Amino acid sequence: MRPEEFQEAVEQAATVLAAHLRDMQAGHGPVVSRKSPDQLRELMSLAGWITRGGMTPQTLGSFLETYLQEGTRLHHPGYMAHQCGVPSTGAAIADLVHGVTNNAMSLHEMGAAAVAAELEVVQWMLSKIGWSEPESGGVLVHGGSLANLTALHAARARAFPGAEEHGNPPSPVILAPPGAHVSVARAASIMGLGTHAVHPLPVDELGRVRPPIAAATMDTHRHAGSNILAVVVNSCAPATGLYDPLREIADHCRERDVWLHVDAAHGGSALLDPNLREHLDGIALADSVTWDAHKMLRTSTLAAGLLMRSRQDLDGLPGLKADYLFYGTRPGPDLMAHTIEGSKAELGLKVFLSLAWHGESGLARYVRDCHHNALFLWDLLADRDGFEVLTKPDFNIVCFRHRGSDADQVTIRDRLMDDGTFHLASSVIGGKRWLRATLISPNTDTATLTQMIHAVEQAGASSPPVRHDARP
Ligand SMILES: *Cc1c(COP(=O)(O)O)cnc(C)c1O
Repeated sequence: MRPEEFQEAVEQAATVLAAHLRDMQAGHGPVVSRKSPDQLRELMSLAGWITRGGMTPQTLGSFLETYLQEGTRLHHPGYMAHQCGVPSTGAAIADLVHGVTNNAMSLHEMGAAAVAAELEVVQWMLSKIGWSEPESGGVLVHGGSLANLTALHAARARAFPGAEEHGNPPSPVILAPPGAHVSVARAASIMGLGTHAVHPLPVDELGRVRPPIAAATMDTHRHAGSNILAVVVNSCAPATGLYDPLREIADHCRERDVWLHVDAAHGGSALLDPNLREHLDGIALADSVTWDAHKMLRTSTLAAGLLMRSRQDLDGLPGLKADYLFYGTRPGPDLMAHTIEGSKAELGLKVFLSLAWHGESGLARYVRDCHHNALFLWDLLADRDGFEVLTKPDFNIVCFRHRGSDADQVTIRDRLMDDGTFHLASSVIGGKRWLRATLISPNTDTATLTQMIHAVEQAGASSPPVRHDARP
């Protein structure tokens, strides 16, 4: 493509995207498309484009219009479903830059500017935790799941020296609350420990770890001859949005020389708000922290910080011996030594641009506003007829139920999506199904939340859908 044509294509795309953004922000269009892949393949003539090619800036524009029409509108005020960042459009420019330059910067020589941006962003993230270089260190990776795997990989290198070469010792154990993210069990599986190596930490009725019992659990496992690889805690838990009590658990881990990994993929951004920060009190005592930028720091998917208290643990990540890559001198680090990924996207630029547009204070305001929306919703539901609320939200996730069965909650959610008005998520807590609102769109306000509750009441009141398995 000639540079002039590229510019024209970007201008077309920008025009279509800006119009889409305006619509989304105003709450126009369905918040989520419910068409099937087959319908959409047809509608967008995907096969035809693949066979014939020949897209132009103009046809790109009309193709994108259809494509965007049938997507999920995260900037819509009614978007409150999954923990997926509503990107700062200023930071979105990083995705375009990366798409053009493809500076796969895990080797310094593949993107000196991108490496500098990542190092600056990592230093900022470390400082929010209360750590600093050179004692501590970190790296950006493609998502929280990978950050958790990388952290546990590092934890294994410290807990079980030689495991990388010779395999795991007998009875390896990872202790985590039952509500830990699925990536923790997956990491255990990938590292050859098996998912049964993940043992549940005892929790209270809301799924939060109980520190004294966690300590006793560690001791019980040790006395039984198990080898504890790490303890994992939620900051905050994916299903409930509640934080585990960090400081006390960290103290128990320190006393026992057990690696503590804090999964703050979603809730790490609470560090920006002086009041919310309390939920993360003691985080600096952890050994490693996962903190996603594409949840609450307003970048696109994926960009996650993996941060470690001890730089040695980061440097000690098991073996990368590639003599076809590592030789000679370089003016900066090859970050590949710290990651499971080989090549890596320019993740630092995304986070940097989000910060550069909004400033730390702008992001802090966003985080606080999301929390205030959650408190408003909780307050609205607390003594409203026909509703039950799980608990006061720690951050920006509110779990609630409308009267009726578990199936009724699913029906309500489906109806709102069919209407295109609101996108809620749902989780099972304490054996019951809840509706779950993640207050993450900067365009959601208290009026939106009041409308959402009316819509839930309406959807819950209308006659139940015909059940295909119903028998007279
Ligand atoms: C979102 C989330 C993850 C997974 O992160 P991805 O970036 O989606 O891979 C892990 N842990 C917690 C607590 C999360 O909220």
